[in-house]
Formats: sequence, C-alpha cells, structure tokens
Amino acid sequence: MFHTPLDKLRRELLSIHGVGPETADSILLYAGGQPTFVVDAYTYRVFSRHGWIDLGSDYHQIQEFFHDHLPADAPMFNEFHALLVCLGKHYCKKGKPLCETCPLKALLPRGGPVGKDEELST
Ligand code: SF4
Repeated sequence: MFHTPLDKLRRELLSIHGVGPETADSILLYAGGQPTFVVDAYTYRVFSRHGWIDLGSDYHQIQEFFHDHLPADAPMFNEFHALLVCLGKHYCKKGKPLCETCPLKALLPRGGPVGKDEELST
C-alpha cells in the first residue's frame, strides 16, 4: 500500500467513509513513514495564538504552511507533531494558556496570545 504515490494514496484514504484528513495523514506518517504533516487542534491552537497562521485557517492551509516551511522529512514531522501535542497538553491548554511557564513564551506576539478558542476546520 505504501508504495502507492503519496497524493494518490492520500486521496484513496480520504475516500473511505469516516477517514478525515487527520486520520489519513496519521496513517501515512506514522504507519507509512510518508512525509505528510499531521495537523490537529493543538497545532492550530499554538500557531494561531502566536499569529503564525490566520485564525480562520483550515486543515489544508495549515498543512501547506508546514510543507512550505519544513523539509519533507517524515521523522522530523513525527517529532514536531509530538512536541506540539506535548506543548498543547501541558501549556497551551484550551481556554487557559499557561504562557508564563511555557517554553514558547518568548515567541508570543506583543499583547499576548491572539484570538480566542476557535476550532480547527477541515
Ligand atoms: S506561550 Fe502561550 S500561546 Fe504560546 S504555546 Fe505557550 S501557552 Fe500557548
């Protein structure tokens, strides 16, 4: 299955009932070792709060942002996503970001986090 070209396989996975972009990309990255960035609510929360992506960005716009700015390196995508999950669980919490103790505090825009708790759209 993972010898199928990435774009084709992604389209095939997305055609399966119940498989959305995050699930398809998780299968491709974690099971297949394919260089596709997995976007989730933590990714959206951290990047939108810092003003690095627009508040209304959808799944594919955010994924494109990562693909445009990072080398296509599956192990690095894996680690990057895991670190964002860790950041979201421990610091960048829904409704109450713990910016004072967060390792990304120095990267906040002036005035602090941007926006409210908008949800990631697919
Ligand atoms: S500094 Fe604040 S907004 Fe930025 S990742 Fe940390 S908790 Fe989230």
